[in-house]
Amino acid sequence: MALRLALVAHDAKKEEMILWAGRHLARLQACDLYGTGTTGARVEEATGLPVTRMKSGPLGGDAQLGALIAEGRLDALIFFTDPLSALPHDVDVKSLIRLAVLYDIPLAMSPVTADLLLAGLLP
Ligand code: PGA
Repeated sequence: MALRLALVAHDAKKEEMILWAGRHLARLQACDLYGTGTTGARVEEATGLPVTRMKSGPLGGDAQLGALIAEGRLDALIFFTDPLSALPHDVDVKSLIRLAVLYDIPLAMSPVTADLLLAGLLP
């Protein structure tokens, strides 16, 4: 079964996510990709990779991804959060991180860690 990988990036981190995805095109082609609405759309547009898109993060997309984790339907999460801004949906952000930790799925929150995550899961 393909690796079920979710991609989420806050606005200030979306360019980094696109660059990261571009660097890992070959590996990501072998994954079933999920994402919050805007991140998913931007990654699809920039790379051509198909992404199953949830709602936008602030509108419940983070919560939807958290539910997928709780149901055992996501294998890993790449979540580039913005460390310099307060966000209205901070509770959802925390909940998503919490569920990734609770269910012990690989979680990367920066490009260099995401490189290591992908190298570990798809050598
Ligand atoms: P977005 O959501 O991809 O729809 O912008 C990300 C987030 O803010 O959690």
